[in-house]
Amino acid sequence: PSGRPNTVRLLFLGAAGVGKSALIHRFLHDRFEHKYTRTVEELHVLEYDTAGSGKMRLEVLDTSGSYSFPAMRQLSIRHSDAFALVYAVDDPGSLEEVRRLRDEILELRGDRGAPITVVGGKADLGDAEGRVLLAADVMATVEDEWDASFVEASARTGGNAVGVFRALLRQVNPPLSCA
Ligand code: GDP
Ligand code: MG
Repeated sequence: PSGRPNTVRLLFLGAAGVGKSALIHRFLHDRFEHKYTRTVEELHVLEYDTAGSGKMRLEVLDTSGSYSFPAMRQLSIRHSDAFALVYAVDDPGSLEEVRRLRDEILELRGDRGAPITVVGGKADLGDAEGRVLLAADVMATVEDEWDASFVEASARTGGNAVGVFRALLRQVNPPLSCA
């Protein structure tokens, strides 16, 4: 009766190798996998129990970061309800890609709004293992300048993988809570 559509579409975007597929896999299967097929897009569909709104159909679209299919990416951006823009904490170039993707989303969405969660992936990496991006610095830009959500997460340890989806669902209109 609320008029809420019963399908919520989440789109994962980001440079190749930042850990998008690993994060989705961790959330869906609670395992860390190393090998993935390199398809352009992979759609995961699940029934998801929310707190308050009951069962939803959740569609999680995993993309490859390929530049070869701009039309496909643009279509996905138009049809999604929330966006996970993923970078890796050891890869400054991947944060630049997040910035570029955000610009593209803002341009394509217009008045429909751009519910973005920026995800710092591979959060298990410490300074000695190549981390160069600090959560506090990125968070300041994302939350204060971009008015978007920010989380760090690790598919390897599982740390905050659920938090990624929690943040995404909170941004859907109207917001959803995890059960
Ligand atoms: P995608 O291209 O964004 O989908 O990235 P993948 O999920 O395929 O991961 C790319 C590489 O990063 C793989 O070798 C993973 O083992 C590694 N990786 C993914 N997630 C993590 C993580 O949370 N921590 C660490 N240390 N490595 C990760
Ligand atoms: Mg992948």
